[in-house]
Amino acid sequence: MVLADLGKRINNAVNGALSNSKDDYTTTVDIMLKTIVTALLESDVNIKLVSQMRNNIKSKLMESKTASSSVTNAQTKKLIQETVFDELCNLVDYKSDQPFQPKKRQTNVIMFVGLQGSGKTTSCTKLAVYYSKRGFKVGLVCADTFRAGAFDQLKQNAIKAHIPFFGSYTEADPVKVAAEGIAKFKKEKFDIIIVDTSGRHRQEEELFKEMVEISNVVKPNQTIMVLDASIGQAAEQQSKAFKDSSDFGAIILTKMDGHAKGGGAISAVAATNTPIIFIGTGEHIHDFEKFSPKSFVSKLLGIGDIESLLEQFQTVSNKEDTKATMENIQQGKFTLLDFKKQMQTIMKMGPLSNIAQMIPGMGNLMSQVSEEETSQKMKKMVYVLDSMTKQELESDGRIFIDEPSRMVRVAKGSGTSVFEVEMILMQQQMMARMAKGAQGAGGMPGMGAMPG
Ligand code: GDP
Repeated sequence: MVLADLGKRINNAVNGALSNSKDDYTTTVDIMLKTIVTALLESDVNIKLVSQMRNNIKSKLMESKTASSSVTNAQTKKLIQETVFDELCNLVDYKSDQPFQPKKRQTNVIMFVGLQGSGKTTSCTKLAVYYSKRGFKVGLVCADTFRAGAFDQLKQNAIKAHIPFFGSYTEADPVKVAAEGIAKFKKEKFDIIIVDTSGRHRQEEELFKEMVEISNVVKPNQTIMVLDASIGQAAEQQSKAFKDSSDFGAIILTKMDGHAKGGGAISAVAATNTPIIFIGTGEHIHDFEKFSPKSFVSKLLGIGDIESLLEQFQTVSNKEDTKATMENIQQGKFTLLDFKKQMQTIMKMGPLSNIAQMIPGMGNLMSQVSEEETSQKMKKMVYVLDSMTKQELESDGRIFIDEPSRMVRVAKGSGTSVFEVEMILMQQQMMARMAKGAQGAGGMPGMGAMPG
């Protein structure tokens, strides 16, 4: 069962309980818990965890009910929703979900471990970009001499992301390469050095021995295990084995965009008492989100997660562009160029379904419209805006109303229809009106006005 299905089933169970007025309270709670338990077990969450969670929810709900005999229906609903939400958070919360805070005036080393194919090399680069964007000088070291092509892969990723890197085509000893890389970047006063190590297809003695040897040499300030979210029950045992050899202090969960059961990963967290710090949501460098138990559960239940949305928006948006748009809005203006920049930022944020999940109420809506369809629509809008002249883009759009022949020209140039151009102008006009309303308040026009 994929994670989205798990969320839907838990939601249905809670909603079912909330709308059920026939049965008495205890029966209603029992029916709801049975559905939640089945859904979690089918998603590979460890049975011990599930039964513990079931007992916690049940006792909390029963206690609250007996503590006050005069609770209203609305209060009961709120209580059920909150209790289920809190317990789901507890399942994935190890109290410290913050990324490692590098120490000032010293070189910090972060070492990655994980099986081959888990997404280690990709995640190393994503983390390097995360710290680099926050002003740290970051270097990448490829200590994977086992897999042919590993260095080339890291090199390509690093070049694309503009991160300095180190590796060797000739040295076969990963410990030596790691030591050399660390020495080089330390000498150059790098703040953070991220060391990518080799993986194997299976857990093997050799691999664990190598991890210990590299770790003894690089002396990491933090070791991160990369875990593929789609591996199901195997996650628990795999993470325990890595914990014994390399004692990692954090987990990055990858491929959360795919058909991940996710439950195995939840069990891995519990089995090793280690927090998830980031999740990988795609192959692109920006498909990387800080993990927060509340955000994770909110998304799981389709409640939406504005906090993550804003953080992602800030990460991908161009600071200069945002500043210029904000200045315009403060003057009550919102030009076609502002509109175009906002569209481009949204498109950079990754699959639209990911973004929709963060907007309250949008997750369910998006599942009814195909990703392809929405993305095509947005691309067309950018083509239309691309066909406009500088003068038109910097205008408030009224220029098109004064001279409708401009619409015909833009439609022709972008391979769209006049109707489509008109629709975009209407959107921009709507936002411009909102900007006028927000004048002085410093607000950003809502993205809810985007066509779906
Ligand atoms: P490594 O062998 O552990 O270093 O794994 P790689 O970094 O080479 O990743 C293996 C494959 O998984 C590559 O094709 C990556 O592009 C892909 N990958 C990594 N992270 C993610 C993710 O979060 N989502 C998706 N869809 N693919 C990912």
